[in-house]
Amino acid sequence: MTKEITHRLAEVTAVTRVSPSLVRVTVAGPELAGFEPHGVPDEGCVFNFPEPGSGGEPVPDAGRWYTVRRFDPVAAEMDVEIVLHPGGIGGEWARAARVGDRLRLTHHNSWFRRPEEAAWQLLAGDVTALPAIARIAEESAGRVPTTAVVEIPHPQDRRELGVPTRWIDNPELGAGSTLHEVLAATTLPEGPGYVYVAGEVSATRLTRKHLRHGLGLSTGSYGVIGYWRVDAEAWRRRQAESGVDTVALYAEAERLGSDEEETRDLFEERLERVGLL
Ligand SMILES: Cc1cc2nc3c(=O)[nH]c(=O)nc-3n(C[C@H](O)[C@H](O)[C@H](O)COP(=O)(O)OP(=O)(O)OC[C@H]3O[C@@H](n4cnc5c(N)ncnc54)[C@H](O)[C@@H]3O)c2cc1C
Repeated sequence: MTKEITHRLAEVTAVTRVSPSLVRVTVAGPELAGFEPHGVPDEGCVFNFPEPGSGGEPVPDAGRWYTVRRFDPVAAEMDVEIVLHPGGIGGEWARAARVGDRLRLTHHNSWFRRPEEAAWQLLAGDVTALPAIARIAEESAGRVPTTAVVEIPHPQDRRELGVPTRWIDNPELGAGSTLHEVLAATTLPEGPGYVYVAGEVSATRLTRKHLRHGLGLSTGSYGVIGYWRVDAEAWRRRQAESGVDTVALYAEAERLGSDEEETRDLFEERLERVGLL
């Protein structure tokens, strides 16, 4: 699915605390009427926020990706669920969000690609992926046997997903995810299936390596997406100081890679070489 870029202004119509780590924000407005869902259950949008608590206009270039948990085309209304972690435009905005606040939706994309022949699926992620996992599980009901593994910072982040779920408690999730270790010790069902993983960048990188190079899963039988990065500021600083153009590195990997997964292998090799993995 190609990335779409539009600009839709929306207004907050409800703010609901769903668990200690997550707040559900409902946004609506005439410009959302033109939003065309991909019908892919992990679809997300980039949200531009105003300064937290300012009630002002959304600041361009201050966008963060969030999963579309629910979209109602008749009411032109959308729910997203935002993790309340310390620091960061998105987390801080969500903590102070109020009805009437304005947001702007820009990019729209989706990643979930379960093959037709999959006889089972495993959905894994940390708390940031809980909205995507919940929607995928909901929309897969009666179609494909599903299990889930979800890493959460607070025991009360547990919720009923309608599928067998292993909850991993990690109060220190903000300092590092353990998802890759959990998944490395997980036996996958026999036969063709699909493994979907989303969460912290290091954990998802190691998980992808395990699925692709450790278990030898074929391209297309897994989808792994990095959602956020521990100590993102330090990484940005290292990137700026290195002077490395990561976009050019990716373009080079893309030229050499025969598919998306090989491109990711080549890109990560290059990032490692310049100390930016
Ligand atoms: C496709 C996609 C879908 C996503 N869907 C969701 C979603 O539905 N709900 C959701 O909450 N997030 C989701 N995310 C993750 C979200 O975009 C990131 O967590 C983002 O970094 C949050 O921005 P921020 O401004 O709060 O923090 P940033 O400005 O990016 O970071 C500030 C600091 O907070 C840290 N940080 C960032 N995120 C977290 C976190 N989750 N926990 C602890 N520390 C963190 C960083 O390391 C940094 O130190 C999604 C990401 C992608 C790519």
